[in-house]
Amino acid sequence: MQRLLSGIKPSGDLNIGGYGGALRQYVKLQHEYESYFFVPDLHAVTVYQDPKELHQRTRDIAALYIASGIDPDKATIFLQSQVPAHVELGWLLETQAHFGELKRMTQFKEKSDGKDTVSSALFTYPVLMAADVLLYQATHVPVGDDQKQHLELTRDVGERFNNRYGRTFTLPEPIIQDIGSRVMGLDDPSKKMSKSNPNKNSCVHMMDTPEDIRKKFSRAVTDSDGQVRHDWEQKPAVSNLIEIYSVFSEEAISVIEKRYEGQGYGMFKKELAEAVIEKLQPIQEKFYQIVNSSELDRVLMNGAKRAAETASTTLHAAKKAMGFVTF
Ligand code: ATP
Ligand code: MG
Repeated sequence: MQRLLSGIKPSGDLNIGGYGGALRQYVKLQHEYESYFFVPDLHAVTVYQDPKELHQRTRDIAALYIASGIDPDKATIFLQSQVPAHVELGWLLETQAHFGELKRMTQFKEKSDGKDTVSSALFTYPVLMAADVLLYQATHVPVGDDQKQHLELTRDVGERFNNRYGRTFTLPEPIIQDIGSRVMGLDDPSKKMSKSNPNKNSCVHMMDTPEDIRKKFSRAVTDSDGQVRHDWEQKPAVSNLIEIYSVFSEEAISVIEKRYEGQGYGMFKKELAEAVIEKLQPIQEKFYQIVNSSELDRVLMNGAKRAAETASTTLHAAKKAMGFVTF
Protein backbone atom coordinates (compact mmCIF):
# COMPACT_ATOMS: atom_id res chain seq x y z
CA MET A 1 0.00 0.00 0.00
CA GLN A 2 1.27 3.48 -0.81
CA ARG A 3 1.80 5.93 2.00
CA LEU A 4 0.40 9.38 2.51
CA LEU A 5 1.21 12.19 4.92
CA SER A 6 -0.24 15.65 5.38
CA GLY A 7 -1.23 18.18 8.03
CA ILE A 8 -2.86 21.49 8.89
CA LYS A 9 -1.10 24.02 11.13
CA PRO A 10 -2.72 25.18 14.38
CA SER A 11 -1.96 28.78 13.38
CA GLY A 12 -5.52 30.09 13.53
CA ASP A 13 -9.11 28.90 13.34
CA LEU A 14 -9.48 26.46 10.48
CA ASN A 15 -11.51 27.82 7.59
CA ILE A 16 -13.26 26.22 4.65
CA GLY A 17 -10.15 26.83 2.51
CA GLY A 18 -8.21 24.28 4.53
CA TYR A 19 -11.24 22.02 4.43
CA GLY A 20 -11.56 22.24 0.63
CA GLY A 21 -7.84 22.01 -0.11
CA ALA A 22 -6.81 19.52 2.52
CA LEU A 23 -9.18 18.00 5.06
CA ARG A 24 -11.86 16.91 2.60
CA GLN A 25 -9.21 15.06 0.63
CA TYR A 26 -7.81 13.39 3.75
CA VAL A 27 -11.17 11.84 4.53
CA LYS A 28 -11.38 10.27 1.07
CA LEU A 29 -7.75 9.26 0.73
CA GLN A 30 -7.49 7.41 4.06
CA HIS A 31 -9.22 4.48 2.35
CA GLU A 32 -6.70 4.30 -0.48
CA TYR A 33 -3.40 4.90 1.34
CA GLU A 34 -1.68 4.04 4.59
CA SER A 35 -2.19 7.52 6.01
CA TYR A 36 -0.45 9.76 8.53
CA PHE A 37 -2.23 12.99 9.44
CA PHE A 38 -0.34 15.21 11.83
CA VAL A 39 -0.80 18.61 13.41
CA PRO A 40 2.33 20.65 12.50
CA ASP A 41 2.49 22.62 15.72
CA LEU A 42 6.23 23.24 15.25
CA HIS A 43 5.41 25.00 12.00
CA ALA A 44 2.79 27.17 13.64
CA VAL A 45 5.35 28.78 15.96
CA THR A 46 7.39 30.14 13.04
CA VAL A 47 5.19 33.18 13.67
CA TYR A 48 4.27 34.14 17.25
CA GLN A 49 1.45 32.12 18.78
CA ASP A 50 -0.12 32.94 22.10
CA PRO A 51 0.70 29.83 24.22
CA LYS A 52 -2.88 29.32 25.45
CA GLU A 53 -4.25 29.68 21.94
CA LEU A 54 -1.66 27.34 20.47
CA HIS A 55 -2.57 24.75 23.06
CA GLN A 56 -6.29 24.92 22.32
CA ARG A 57 -5.94 25.18 18.55
CA THR A 58 -3.70 22.14 18.43
CA ARG A 59 -6.46 20.12 20.07
CA ASP A 60 -9.00 21.81 17.81
CA ILE A 61 -7.27 20.72 14.61
CA ALA A 62 -6.83 17.16 15.84
CA ALA A 63 -10.50 17.05 16.87
CA LEU A 64 -11.53 18.42 13.49
CA TYR A 65 -9.65 15.64 11.75
CA ILE A 66 -11.74 13.09 13.60
CA ALA A 67 -14.99 15.09 13.44
CA SER A 68 -14.62 15.43 9.67
CA GLY A 69 -14.38 11.67 9.27
CA ILE A 70 -10.76 10.59 9.63
CA ASP A 71 -10.86 7.25 11.41
CA PRO A 72 -8.09 7.01 14.04
CA ASP A 73 -8.14 3.22 13.75
CA LYS A 74 -7.35 3.49 10.08
CA ALA A 75 -5.05 6.52 9.90
CA THR A 76 -2.32 7.60 12.31
CA ILE A 77 -3.17 10.98 13.85
CA PHE A 78 -0.44 12.71 15.86
CA LEU A 79 1.16 15.98 16.92
CA GLN A 80 4.45 16.92 15.28
CA SER A 81 6.04 18.10 18.53
CA GLN A 82 5.44 14.65 20.06
CA VAL A 83 7.81 12.99 17.59
CA PRO A 84 11.30 14.51 18.07
CA ALA A 85 12.66 12.81 14.93
CA HIS A 86 11.07 15.61 12.86
CA VAL A 87 13.36 18.23 14.35
CA GLU A 88 16.40 16.00 14.17
CA LEU A 89 15.96 15.13 10.51
CA GLY A 90 15.04 18.76 9.86
CA TRP A 91 18.51 19.77 11.03
CA LEU A 92 20.22 17.11 8.93
CA LEU A 93 18.33 18.25 5.85
CA GLU A 94 19.20 21.89 6.47
CA THR A 95 22.73 20.85 5.60
CA GLN A 96 21.39 19.82 2.17
CA ALA A 97 19.10 22.74 1.42
CA HIS A 98 20.53 25.86 -0.18
CA PHE A 99 20.12 29.38 1.11
CA GLY A 100 19.25 30.59 -2.40
CA GLU A 101 16.46 28.10 -2.97
CA LEU A 102 14.85 28.95 0.37
CA LYS A 103 14.98 32.62 -0.56
CA ARG A 104 12.88 31.83 -3.61
CA MET A 105 9.97 30.38 -1.62
CA THR A 106 6.95 32.54 -2.35
CA GLN A 107 5.30 31.80 1.00
CA PHE A 108 8.34 33.17 2.80
CA LYS A 109 8.18 36.28 0.66
CA GLU A 110 4.46 36.70 1.35
CA LYS A 111 4.67 36.05 5.07
CA SER A 112 7.69 38.24 5.66
CA ASP A 113 6.43 41.06 3.46
CA GLY A 114 6.17 44.34 5.37
CA LYS A 115 7.44 42.89 8.68
CA ASP A 116 10.32 44.54 10.56
CA THR A 117 11.63 41.20 11.77
CA VAL A 118 10.82 37.59 10.97
CA SER A 119 12.07 34.49 12.75
CA SER A 120 14.80 32.44 11.13
CA ALA A 121 12.46 29.47 11.59
CA LEU A 122 10.02 31.05 9.12
CA PHE A 123 12.84 31.00 6.60
CA THR A 124 13.89 27.38 7.18
CA TYR A 125 10.41 25.98 7.75
CA PRO A 126 10.16 24.38 4.29
CA VAL A 127 13.11 22.16 5.26
CA LEU A 128 11.30 20.98 8.37
CA MET A 129 8.37 20.24 6.08
CA ALA A 130 10.69 18.17 3.89
CA ALA A 131 11.70 16.23 7.00
CA ASP A 132 8.03 15.67 7.93
CA VAL A 133 7.35 14.04 4.60
CA LEU A 134 10.62 12.17 4.03
CA LEU A 135 10.65 10.65 7.54
CA TYR A 136 7.62 8.56 6.68
CA GLN A 137 8.75 7.58 3.18
CA ALA A 138 5.48 9.11 2.01
CA THR A 139 4.69 8.40 -1.64
CA HIS A 140 1.93 11.03 -1.77
CA VAL A 141 1.14 14.33 -0.08
CA PRO A 142 -2.28 15.91 -0.54
CA VAL A 143 -1.89 19.71 -0.47
CA GLY A 144 -3.55 22.90 -1.60
CA ASP A 145 -2.07 24.70 -4.57
CA ASP A 146 -0.06 27.05 -2.30
CA GLN A 147 2.10 24.19 -1.00
CA LYS A 148 3.21 22.94 -4.41
CA GLN A 149 6.52 24.81 -4.29
CA HIS A 150 7.37 23.45 -0.84
CA LEU A 151 6.73 19.94 -2.01
CA GLU A 152 9.06 20.47 -4.96
CA LEU A 153 11.71 21.57 -2.48
CA THR A 154 11.05 18.40 -0.48
CA ARG A 155 11.76 16.34 -3.58
CA ASP A 156 14.88 18.34 -4.44
CA VAL A 157 16.35 18.04 -0.95
CA GLY A 158 15.48 14.34 -0.76
CA GLU A 159 17.01 13.66 -4.14
CA ARG A 160 20.16 15.60 -3.29
CA PHE A 161 20.57 13.55 -0.13
CA ASN A 162 19.96 10.28 -2.01
CA ASN A 163 22.53 11.17 -4.66
CA ARG A 164 25.13 12.12 -2.11
CA TYR A 165 24.66 9.43 0.53
CA GLY A 166 22.79 6.59 -1.18
CA ARG A 167 19.10 6.02 -1.58
CA THR A 168 17.50 6.79 1.78
CA PHE A 169 14.26 8.65 1.04
CA THR A 170 11.21 8.03 -1.12
CA LEU A 171 10.48 11.07 -3.28
CA PRO A 172 6.83 12.07 -2.82
CA GLU A 173 4.24 13.17 -5.37
CA PRO A 174 1.71 15.90 -4.58
CA ILE A 175 -2.02 15.23 -4.82
CA ILE A 176 -3.71 18.47 -5.83
CA GLN A 177 -7.36 18.31 -6.75
CA ASP A 178 -8.94 20.40 -9.49
CA ILE A 179 -11.75 21.94 -7.50
CA GLY A 180 -11.10 23.32 -4.03
CA SER A 181 -7.32 23.40 -4.20
CA ARG A 182 -7.33 27.19 -4.13
CA VAL A 183 -10.16 28.73 -2.13
CA MET A 184 -9.85 32.51 -2.20
CA GLY A 185 -10.92 35.18 0.31
CA LEU A 186 -14.58 36.24 0.21
CA ASP A 187 -13.54 39.90 0.34
CA ASP A 188 -10.80 39.67 -2.27
CA PRO A 189 -10.51 36.83 -4.81
CA SER A 190 -6.87 37.64 -5.48
CA LYS A 191 -5.81 36.48 -1.98
CA LYS A 192 -6.17 32.95 -0.71
CA MET A 193 -8.47 32.24 2.20
CA SER A 194 -5.99 31.87 5.03
CA LYS A 195 -6.01 31.19 8.76
CA SER A 196 -3.65 34.05 9.38
CA ASN A 197 -5.70 36.66 7.48
CA PRO A 198 -6.85 39.16 10.13
CA ASN A 199 -9.99 40.15 8.19
CA LYS A 200 -12.65 37.92 9.71
CA ASN A 201 -15.09 38.46 6.84
CA SER A 202 -12.65 37.05 4.33
CA CYS A 203 -13.14 33.48 5.54
CA VAL A 204 -15.80 31.13 6.78
CA HIS A 205 -14.48 29.20 9.75
CA MET A 206 -15.29 25.57 10.33
CA MET A 207 -16.94 26.44 13.65
CA ASP A 208 -18.92 29.49 12.48
CA THR A 209 -22.62 29.61 13.41
CA PRO A 210 -25.26 29.40 10.67
CA GLU A 211 -26.00 33.13 11.08
CA ASP A 212 -22.34 34.02 10.64
CA ILE A 213 -22.10 31.85 7.56
CA ARG A 214 -25.22 33.41 5.98
CA LYS A 215 -23.93 36.88 6.75
CA LYS A 216 -20.47 36.25 5.34
CA PHE A 217 -21.75 34.83 2.07
CA SER A 218 -24.31 37.57 1.64
CA ARG A 219 -21.46 40.11 1.94
CA ALA A 220 -19.05 38.20 -0.30
CA VAL A 221 -17.87 40.26 -3.25
CA THR A 222 -19.14 39.32 -6.71
CA ASP A 223 -19.17 41.39 -9.90
CA SER A 224 -21.71 43.44 -11.81
CA ASP A 225 -22.64 41.14 -14.70
CA GLY A 226 -25.05 39.02 -12.64
CA GLN A 227 -24.19 35.65 -14.21
CA VAL A 228 -23.35 32.55 -12.19
CA ARG A 229 -20.59 31.42 -14.51
CA HIS A 230 -17.25 29.74 -13.76
CA ASP A 231 -14.46 31.74 -15.38
CA TRP A 232 -11.37 32.49 -13.29
CA GLU A 233 -10.03 35.05 -15.74
CA GLN A 234 -13.10 37.24 -16.10
CA LYS A 235 -15.06 36.40 -12.95
CA PRO A 236 -12.70 35.35 -10.13
CA ALA A 237 -15.02 36.22 -7.22
CA VAL A 238 -18.00 34.32 -8.62
CA SER A 239 -15.81 31.41 -9.74
CA ASN A 240 -14.50 31.12 -6.19
CA LEU A 241 -18.05 30.97 -4.79
CA ILE A 242 -19.06 28.36 -7.38
CA GLU A 243 -16.08 26.20 -6.40
CA ILE A 244 -16.96 26.46 -2.71
CA TYR A 245 -20.52 25.47 -3.63
CA SER A 246 -19.21 22.49 -5.57
CA VAL A 247 -16.94 21.38 -2.71
CA PHE A 248 -19.77 21.49 -0.18
CA SER A 249 -22.68 20.18 -2.26
CA GLU A 250 -20.51 17.69 -4.18
CA GLU A 251 -22.23 18.75 -7.41
CA ALA A 252 -20.45 19.44 -10.68
CA ILE A 253 -19.79 23.07 -11.58
CA SER A 254 -21.93 22.76 -14.72
CA VAL A 255 -24.91 21.61 -12.64
CA ILE A 256 -24.58 24.66 -10.40
CA GLU A 257 -24.21 27.06 -13.32
CA LYS A 258 -27.33 25.63 -14.96
CA ARG A 259 -29.45 25.88 -11.80
CA TYR A 260 -28.84 29.63 -11.40
CA GLU A 261 -28.86 30.60 -15.05
CA GLY A 262 -30.38 34.04 -15.57
CA GLN A 263 -31.22 34.51 -11.88
CA GLY A 264 -28.57 36.94 -10.57
CA TYR A 265 -26.64 36.26 -7.37
CA GLY A 266 -29.26 36.49 -4.58
CA MET A 267 -30.61 32.94 -4.50
CA PHE A 268 -27.21 31.49 -5.47
CA LYS A 269 -25.53 33.06 -2.43
CA LYS A 270 -28.35 32.01 -0.10
CA GLU A 271 -28.30 28.39 -1.20
CA LEU A 272 -24.51 28.35 -1.17
CA ALA A 273 -24.62 29.31 2.52
CA GLU A 274 -27.15 26.55 3.21
CA ALA A 275 -24.99 23.93 1.46
CA VAL A 276 -22.03 24.92 3.64
CA ILE A 277 -24.13 24.94 6.83
CA GLU A 278 -25.56 21.51 6.06
CA LYS A 279 -22.11 19.97 5.63
CA LEU A 280 -20.59 21.69 8.67
CA GLN A 281 -23.36 20.95 11.16
CA PRO A 282 -22.57 17.27 11.87
CA ILE A 283 -18.84 18.06 11.87
CA GLN A 284 -19.37 20.78 14.48
CA GLU A 285 -21.49 18.50 16.66
CA LYS A 286 -18.89 15.75 16.69
CA PHE A 287 -16.14 18.31 17.25
CA TYR A 288 -17.68 19.57 20.48
CA GLN A 289 -18.08 16.00 21.74
CA ILE A 290 -14.44 15.10 21.36
CA VAL A 291 -12.33 18.24 21.55
CA ASN A 292 -11.77 18.16 25.30
CA SER A 293 -12.22 14.42 25.78
CA SER A 294 -9.72 11.88 27.10
CA GLU A 295 -10.52 9.90 23.95
CA LEU A 296 -8.68 12.55 21.96
CA ASP A 297 -5.68 12.30 24.31
CA ARG A 298 -5.63 8.56 23.77
CA VAL A 299 -5.76 8.89 19.99
CA LEU A 300 -2.88 11.36 20.02
CA MET A 301 -0.73 9.30 22.39
CA ASN A 302 -1.21 6.13 20.35
CA GLY A 303 -0.66 8.06 17.13
CA ALA A 304 2.63 9.51 18.37
CA LYS A 305 3.85 6.07 19.36
CA ARG A 306 3.03 4.59 15.96
CA ALA A 307 4.49 7.57 14.11
CA ALA A 308 7.71 7.48 16.14
CA GLU A 309 8.31 3.86 15.19
CA THR A 310 8.20 4.59 11.48
CA ALA A 311 10.12 7.86 11.85
CA SER A 312 12.96 6.40 13.89
CA THR A 313 13.73 3.78 11.21
CA THR A 314 14.24 6.50 8.58
CA LEU A 315 16.15 8.79 10.93
CA HIS A 316 18.51 5.98 11.85
CA ALA A 317 19.13 5.18 8.18
CA ALA A 318 19.79 8.84 7.35
CA LYS A 319 22.28 9.29 10.22
CA LYS A 320 24.07 6.09 9.31
CA ALA A 321 24.27 7.13 5.66
CA MET A 322 25.83 10.47 6.63
CA GLY A 323 28.49 8.81 8.75
CA PHE A 324 27.24 9.47 12.26
CA VAL A 325 28.12 6.81 14.80
CA THR A 326 24.97 4.76 15.32
CA PHE A 327 24.33 1.68 17.45
P1 ATP B 1 -1.39 29.92 7.41
O1 ATP B 1 -2.01 31.19 6.93
O2 ATP B 1 -0.97 29.99 8.83
O3 ATP B 1 -0.30 29.44 6.49
P2 ATP B 1 -3.28 28.23 6.09
O4 ATP B 1 -4.71 28.63 6.12
O5 ATP B 1 -2.50 28.48 4.85
O6 ATP B 1 -2.56 28.84 7.36
P3 ATP B 1 -1.99 25.69 6.43
O7 ATP B 1 -1.98 24.96 7.71
O8 ATP B 1 -0.77 26.43 6.02
O9 ATP B 1 -3.25 26.69 6.45
O10 ATP B 1 -2.38 24.71 5.26
C1 ATP B 1 -2.98 23.44 5.50
C2 ATP B 1 -3.38 22.81 4.19
O11 ATP B 1 -4.52 23.48 3.66
C3 ATP B 1 -2.31 22.90 3.11
O12 ATP B 1 -2.34 21.71 2.36
C4 ATP B 1 -2.75 24.04 2.28
O13 ATP B 1 -2.29 23.91 0.96
C5 ATP B 1 -4.26 23.93 2.36
N1 ATP B 1 -4.90 25.24 2.22
C6 ATP B 1 -4.71 26.32 3.03
N2 ATP B 1 -5.44 27.36 2.61
C7 ATP B 1 -6.10 26.94 1.50
C8 ATP B 1 -7.01 27.55 0.60
N3 ATP B 1 -7.38 28.82 0.75
N4 ATP B 1 -7.50 26.82 -0.43
C9 ATP B 1 -7.14 25.52 -0.58
N5 ATP B 1 -6.27 24.89 0.22
C10 ATP B 1 -5.76 25.57 1.25
MG1 MG C 1 -0.37 28.08 4.80
